[in-house]
Amino acid sequence: MRFLILSDIHANLTALEATLVAAEKRWDRAVCLGDVVGYGPDPNEVIDRVRKLVVACIRGNHDKAGCGLDTAEDFNPVAKHAALWTRDQLRPENLIYLQQLPQGPIEVDGVSLMHGAWQDEDEYVFAPAQALDGLLGAPTAVSFFGHTHFQGGFSFVDNKLEVIQLRPATGTSFAALQIEPGTRYLLNPGSVGQPRDGDPRAAFAVADMEHRVVEFWRVPYDIEAVQTRMMNAGLPEPLVLRLAYGR
Ligand code: ZN
Repeated sequence: MRFLILSDIHANLTALEATLVAAEKRWDRAVCLGDVVGYGPDPNEVIDRVRKLVVACIRGNHDKAGCGLDTAEDFNPVAKHAALWTRDQLRPENLIYLQQLPQGPIEVDGVSLMHGAWQDEDEYVFAPAQALDGLLGAPTAVSFFGHTHFQGGFSFVDNKLEVIQLRPATGTSFAALQIEPGTRYLLNPGSVGQPRDGDPRAAFAVADMEHRVVEFWRVPYDIEAVQTRMMNAGLPEPLVLRLAYGR
C-alpha cells in the first residue's frame, strides 16, 4: 500500500493542485490529517477535492472552528478572523462534512493518523516528550500527525527516542526515510497549504509500506496567485505575507 499523506491544506487549492501533480501515480490511497480549511482563500474548492480524494480524513482545530464546533475564542486574532470568514463561505454540505469529520487518532490500513498529539488532538507535538505517548501508545509501528506544519518527526527503538530531521534540500523534491523493523515512528508530512518550517514549498509525504520507505516531499507552487485571492477576500495581511516565507 502506498499512501499519499496530506495535512494542514488550509484552504490553499493551488498548493493542493501542485501536490497532486507532483505525487501523481505514486500512491494508492490518500489520507488527510486535518485542517482542511482555515487561513486560506479556497475552503469550498479544497473540501470538494478532499472529499473525492481521500479514504480517510480526521478533523483539525481549524476544521472545528470553521464549521462552528469550536468558538475560535482561543485562536489569535488573525486566525479567528480567518475562521469566521471560512464559516461564512462554506456551502451547507461542506459545513456538514467538516462537522462530521472524526476525531483522531484513527487507524487506516496499518497506520495511525492524528492531527495533534496521540493524547490530545489539539496539542502541538514539537518536543520529544510530547511524541512519546504516540510512539508507544499507537497500535501501529508507523503513525502520522500534523498540526505543527513542520516536516519530520520522531523514532523510538531500544528505549531511545530520536528526532528525525529529514527535509528535501532546496532544489530537490524529496528525502527518503527507511522504515526499520522494530522501530516505531511518529511522522509529520508537513503542511500542504501553510508551511512554517522555513521552506515555503508545499509539503506532503508518500508512504510505501510494502517497501518500507516514507518520502518527505516539497513542491513549489504559485504563491502569488494564492496571496492575490487572499487579499481580494479581505483575509488578514500577516496570513498573506507568511506564505512567501514559509513561517
Ligand atoms: Zn494547521
